[in-house]
Amino acid sequence: MNGPMLKVEKLVKHYPLGGGFFDRNPLVVRAVEGVSFSVDAGETLCIVGESGCGKSTIARLLMRLVDPTEGRVLLQGTDIAGLKNDGLRNCRRRMQMVFQDPYSSLNPRLTAGQIITEPVGNFERLGRKKREALAADLLRKVGLAPEIMHRLPSELSGGQRQRLGIARALSLKPSIIIADEAVSALDVSVQAQILNLLMDLQDELGISFVFISHDLGVVEHIGHRVAVMYLGRIVELATREALFANPVHPYTEALLAAAPLPDPTQARLAVPIEGEVPSPVNPPKGCAFHPRCSLAEERCRIEVPALTEMADGRSVACHVRAPAEYPAGQPSE
Ligand code: ADP
Ligand code: MG
Repeated sequence: MNGPMLKVEKLVKHYPLGGGFFDRNPLVVRAVEGVSFSVDAGETLCIVGESGCGKSTIARLLMRLVDPTEGRVLLQGTDIAGLKNDGLRNCRRRMQMVFQDPYSSLNPRLTAGQIITEPVGNFERLGRKKREALAADLLRKVGLAPEIMHRLPSELSGGQRQRLGIARALSLKPSIIIADEAVSALDVSVQAQILNLLMDLQDELGISFVFISHDLGVVEHIGHRVAVMYLGRIVELATREALFANPVHPYTEALLAAAPLPDPTQARLAVPIEGEVPSPVNPPKGCAFHPRCSLAEERCRIEVPALTEMADGRSVACHVRAPAEYPAGQPSE
């Protein structure tokens, strides 16, 4: 395959907030404000950031559950916006989603076996024997005993239900899985098991992941590259190693400082983050992080910093830590 598995170009999603027909300036939630990234085959890209920064909106845009205000989503080079009927079905087959709360996303009246073979049943008719064989195979893949195919979701543990959600996502042999807070509802020990399962499946099947989480600890476990979001924008995009060893954006630094350390006796270096996330209805001018940033300068209050590639290959949107070069020939004032 040439090119990335998934490419996202300048995605924007604004949600109009009520406001009457005669309203001159209706309120708008700026959920996603120009996000670009790509994911290679077999790669895990993590998207991390505090609640409300636009992570789930990106997941919905990728799955085309909502349409973008601007920008494009390319799945193996095909713009998903233009797809209809068979094209869209085919795209949905290649791109699957795993949700945070498997309980609410699993039909409580269907057995485990029915749940995980239902997507395939939408594409081809399966006799009972074939169905059971497929269910057994999928259950084994996610580390569950085939016998549980006859149980209802309510008879399973949280970890087993999440494995079931993953089995269902795998059933159509997708090229890419979008996992939105897929382990956030689970106990820490179960989280680790599920993350290891996802990584094993990736090694075995070469699946790409967009793994969305508010939890840096989870991201450190599973990500090849990490995009840090703040108020609808990516502020830093780096390999996992580079991001955790040496965060460049002050927000990344603050997030890392706020994350629980595996060894609580270890000294904290960076300053913890203060204040609340501003509202995406009325985001601060300039760099949206400037009201919470101890490094903020005059320019940060005026101009939105562009995501700028640095010498080590990471991209950072910060006037202070990653000043953008002026293009050749342009006066620097
Ligand atoms: P995250 O997943 O990072 O917590 P979301 O993508 O769910 O963030 O939400 C981003 C912002 O968009 C939030 O302010 C949220 O309230 C708002 N939002 C999400 N969906 C809608 C919607 N359908 N209508 C209006 N606002 C929305
Ligand atoms: Mg979310």
